[in-house]
Amino acid sequence: MVAVKGAEILICGAGIIGLTVARQLLKDGYKDIVIIEKEDAPGRHASGRNSGVLHAGVYYMPDTLRAKSCLRGNMLMKEYCRERGLPLFESGKVIVAKNETEIPILKELLKRATANGARVELIDERQLNEIEPAAKTCATALYSYDTAVVDPKAVLMALYDDLLKTGKVTIIKNTQFKGVRGSATCMTTNGAIAFGTFINAAGAYSDKVAHAFGVGSQYSLVPFKGIYRKLRPDSVSMIRGSIYPVPDIRNPFLGVHFTRGIDGSVYLGPTAIPALGRENYGILKGIDSEALEILRRELVLFSENPKFREVAFTEPKKYLFKYFFEDARVLVKDLEPKDVVPSDKAGVRPQLVDWKTKELVTDFIVVKDGNSVHVLNSISPAFTSSMDFARVIVNNYIKNAA
Ligand SMILES: Cc1cc2nc3c(=O)[nH]c(=O)nc-3n(C[C@H](O)[C@H](O)[C@H](O)COP(=O)(O)OP(=O)(O)OC[C@H]3O[C@@H](n4cnc5c(N)ncnc54)[C@H](O)[C@@H]3O)c2cc1C
Repeated sequence: MVAVKGAEILICGAGIIGLTVARQLLKDGYKDIVIIEKEDAPGRHASGRNSGVLHAGVYYMPDTLRAKSCLRGNMLMKEYCRERGLPLFESGKVIVAKNETEIPILKELLKRATANGARVELIDERQLNEIEPAAKTCATALYSYDTAVVDPKAVLMALYDDLLKTGKVTIIKNTQFKGVRGSATCMTTNGAIAFGTFINAAGAYSDKVAHAFGVGSQYSLVPFKGIYRKLRPDSVSMIRGSIYPVPDIRNPFLGVHFTRGIDGSVYLGPTAIPALGRENYGILKGIDSEALEILRRELVLFSENPKFREVAFTEPKKYLFKYFFEDARVLVKDLEPKDVVPSDKAGVRPQLVDWKTKELVTDFIVVKDGNSVHVLNSISPAFTSSMDFARVIVNNYIKNAA
């Protein structure tokens, strides 16, 4: 049984969203916050398994929550890393075009980035060669000055420690949300907890938690697996920062890219392979009784959504080295198969689907219902955005909520 019987604010999930929302609540004067987390530590899922890239407002349609919070979140996270002495690699990033047909998309990204206030520039091949000598492009590339890389686990642990030190936040691990009783009692695997306000920050399970409150019935999540490979240690010097392809902007994924991490290793990936479980990190690992239902959802999308069909055709073959390597090879000169080695890094991106339209939802969604608030689509760049997004959640849905 949990020692805590009740809380003014109860948060479900100790990923980056749960932790930064708790931090923002403290800033706003809240004193009695409990976080329940089903795992034995924070960051066991998306927040601890991502690329660690602080995006810089390039891709997102202006006026979306993602566009509004990404750049400010980037700045706030950098400030936090500097204050806390956490690793921060201000690498910048280039987005390269593999052929002429991608140049209009690059220009569209320039337009979006400029509207979002991002510091970007179209550069020619000579400039690209100075910034990232191994990158290759067709005539022009987009350079983002403010993209950076952090160690996501170090950020989570620092936040976790900061919260506990205040004495105003209790984090109860190994405790899973199981349901709600009445309008103010949460049932967990460790007993009941009464709450004033409930905040659903359950990441890959946020749809299920919302459904338990009777919220968001038109939405459920479909998981996409991101597998990574690495450059061999003696090949890492060819990459200075981050090299990204021009993405298919109809879908929310950015394509296999190169990222130099804060420890100097260079990762390639992630893929976006439709998965069979919310925590399906290996081939079979994480496939549970929900697999058939997830497969059914994927088949519906496959038959009715051409953009999903494209992903389903192109991504799964990247389990095979040959196809994964093909994506990587077009970004970098002289990359050879021997430069790329396996990696055990893998993540799952839970992607919300609106079943009324059968479309993948491309922005963050927050729904308030009575005394519960649900963060429903914390897709990338939610790690980057989190410190600003948390401010929006607390201001608009908790403090000043109607
Ligand atoms: C492969 C990959 C690469 C990415 N790269 C980037 C990047 O470079 N930059 C970027 O900004 N973003 C990136 N993202 C996206 C980013 O990681 C996510 O947007 C962000 O981590 C979401 O945070 P979260 O707190 O909502 O979810 P999570 O980190 O999943 O946290 C949710 C928490 O809730 C807990 N939980 C779930 N259900 C329950 C329950 N029933 N009871 C109790 N606890 C529960 C989980 O155990 C988990 O700890 C990437 C994601 C992936 C998967």
